Amino acid sequence: MTPADLTFDRRHIWHPYTSMTQPLPAYPIVSAAGCELKLADGRPLVDGMSSWWAAIHGYSHPRLNEAMKSQIDQMSHVMFGGITHPAAVALCRRLVAMTPEPLECVFLADSGSVAVEVAMKMALQYWHAKGEPRQRFLTFRHGYHGDTFGAMSVCDPDNSMHSLWQGYLPEHLFAPAPQCGFDDEWDEMDIVPFARLMAAHRQEIAAVILEPVVQGAGGMRFYHPEWLRRIRRMCDREGILLIADEIATGFGRTGKLFACDHAGIAPDIMCLGKALTGGTMTLSATLATRNVAETISDGEAGCFMHGPTFMGNPLACAVACESLALLEEGGWQQQVKAIEQQLLTGLGPLKDCEQVADVRVLGAIGVVETHYPVDMAALQAFFVEQGVWVRPFGRLIYLMPPYIISRDQLAKLIAAVTKAVANPAFFRR
Ligand code: PMP
Repeated sequence: MTPADLTFDRRHIWHPYTSMTQPLPAYPIVSAAGCELKLADGRPLVDGMSSWWAAIHGYSHPRLNEAMKSQIDQMSHVMFGGITHPAAVALCRRLVAMTPEPLECVFLADSGSVAVEVAMKMALQYWHAKGEPRQRFLTFRHGYHGDTFGAMSVCDPDNSMHSLWQGYLPEHLFAPAPQCGFDDEWDEMDIVPFARLMAAHRQEIAAVILEPVVQGAGGMRFYHPEWLRRIRRMCDREGILLIADEIATGFGRTGKLFACDHAGIAPDIMCLGKALTGGTMTLSATLATRNVAETISDGEAGCFMHGPTFMGNPLACAVACESLALLEEGGWQQQVKAIEQQLLTGLGPLKDCEQVADVRVLGAIGVVETHYPVDMAALQAFFVEQGVWVRPFGRLIYLMPPYIISRDQLAKLIAAVTKAVANPAFFRR
């Protein structure tokens, strides 16, 4: 890429959550293979981000590339209305088999946010079909479910700046975020405000929506799985649906195939995305129980009212199917366990650093929470100098590498984070 390309980029292309007038730098990456991204000047960077939870098998995986190439020769895309195709059927067979048992009806869409819109719409249509319209969702603070308006309405009100959308966003119910950590002793009091909120609005709530066990973009917080068992029981008692947003946590990242597995529960509706295609193409899936699907289908509309143009895109389905085949071979379990161990021993001692408020590790996720927000531009430049790709935000520096990362590569990432937190210049007091 030429300097002119980068100037054009700064002037004309939006990047996620950065200003068009004072954009943070965008680093030119020209290829990626295994666990490395290659800069335009040839320098390799060890990837600590999996491209936001997605590239679990690393980049340019030969089997994923082959799946896409052979699908291109059949067809890249065909509409899904009135048509089906082998890639969608093969993928959905695997999804139904892999996910908790009652989930058996799959809706394919384009991105995580759309999967959440679909899940919320399913819950609304479910209650409409029962002749008892309900329009509110109950969730926790510090959640994150995507950037479209429905999804945003159940994101943390402060982080996603609900004040900006006042009067436009529907107002849902927010319980305090879980305080009881993943490894803490279960504290009965933790769930009391949530239970009270549910009891006070039991006739209005269509569904509870949550990120099971790991609250991701809203703070990288890991909470006690007992929360999920309790919520499942409360929802069953009240007939309220439970939506699990496994878009970030799904496919092994937390050490279990799905984060719900830590609690041994099944939701009524589950959202999947990100790692679904091994991080190669955009695709999401919303799975529902037979009961939810049949109730919707027997209602006034006679069908679920959604159908995106690129629904069931064959290219994305084919590569997703191969990514799930790789997971089914089971190697990920050992890989994630080894990453967890190395993150614990490597990042754990940082707890004693002056800049550090907390260190937490779960599966292939390692989080260093600092006392002060990071200087993003300075820290990002430092990481690139160190030959690693780590993208911190707010007071969080975190690693979630591809499962195939080597010990040496992970050691390099940990060493870079260790150096970073030792330097007060990277933090805005
Ligand atoms: N839900 C969760 C838990 C997420 O982490 C994300 C993405 N960070 C989304 C939904 C939205 O997915 P997408 O960015 O693909 O729209």
